[in-house]
Amino acid sequence: VCPVGALTEHDHTNRLLEDLENPDKIVIVQTAPAVRVALGEEFGMPAGTSVTGKMVYALRELGFNYVFDTDFAADLTIMEEGAEVLERLTRFLDGDKEVCLPILTSCCPAWVNFFEHHFPDMLNIPSTARSPQQMFGSIAKSYWAEKMGIPREKLIVVSIMPCLAKKYECDRDEFKTNGNPDVDYSISTRELARLIKRANIGFQLLPDSEFDQPMGESTGASVIFGTTGGVMEAALRSVYEIYTGQTLENVNFENVRGMDGVRRAVINLNGFELKVGIAHGLGNARHLLEDIRNGNNEYHAIEIMACPGGCIGGGGQPLHHGQTDILYARSKALYEEDANKPIRKSHENPYIQKLYEEYLGKPLSEKAHMLLHTHYFNKAID
Ligand code: SF4
Repeated sequence: VCPVGALTEHDHTNRLLEDLENPDKIVIVQTAPAVRVALGEEFGMPAGTSVTGKMVYALRELGFNYVFDTDFAADLTIMEEGAEVLERLTRFLDGDKEVCLPILTSCCPAWVNFFEHHFPDMLNIPSTARSPQQMFGSIAKSYWAEKMGIPREKLIVVSIMPCLAKKYECDRDEFKTNGNPDVDYSISTRELARLIKRANIGFQLLPDSEFDQPMGESTGASVIFGTTGGVMEAALRSVYEIYTGQTLENVNFENVRGMDGVRRAVINLNGFELKVGIAHGLGNARHLLEDIRNGNNEYHAIEIMACPGGCIGGGGQPLHHGQTDILYARSKALYEEDANKPIRKSHENPYIQKLYEEYLGKPLSEKAHMLLHTHYFNKAID
């Protein structure tokens, strides 16, 4: 059970049904990577069945005006987070003693909430990049809405997430403009399954449908965000090429994959040894953070996910009752989707390149900071 979402779980399915019936609203949806490899279980399919095309078809049947992919925003997250990694590394190698390393990933809201409560003295260490869910909402209600001529108040952005903490994340004040949230609300994988069943949609027999563009385009790097180690591997694919200026021929970083609670890997960047760590489960994260606080840090970058297995094991997914074979099957399906993608590095996503050309300028630009980054709060309870 999600440690944060469990306290704040709200079922927004009735609100969604009202919005879908409202002719004055344009309702768009984004779907997280982990959803597509677990949703089928709610319809009797084996764990690890990838139902991406059926899921998109079902969402159109439910009445969404546009069906987009959170994976697009995961590629965007890599652009911003990767740039932060490179910026801090460059300063570190130039001898800057003030630079904060390791950099920690920030795309898991349960993890963000955890460090705000328990490690408020270390708020300058995590990346300031927003999560893919929030980057999607921010870009949808600015760049995309402007292009489409849709007023912000008419646009409803819904997310389908494996996660209960994402419901709380949408509600954070820093992700609102004049009180209007970038992501209006989030629906879990299980809630989506209930909606599909209520609508009498024969899910197993559905044909495949494609995501809408431009925010439906994604790379293999973004697909693996859904499993532990995936964010780090996606970042390494881009950081390697940008840092070394060389083409990465083999994009599979097998040494960051797996299900061990804490994993370590050393990546050779043209002679520089980049030390990375991966942890899933908040108990493992706490140990890592305590080591850093005590000055025993051996890493340059760390990925942390609150749920065992990462988002594939999220609190909003079909229940797996601790069966690790189910988590392995979901993870394997994500790596297969990655392997089958024609583009597997985030910085090569053509629509991400266009977004920077037309709107954001470059990673970490002033506009990118305003729309795609955040800050953290001391929430320690005395
Ligand atoms: Fe949500 Fe994924 Fe974090 Fe779990 S690991 S709390 S599903 S973002």
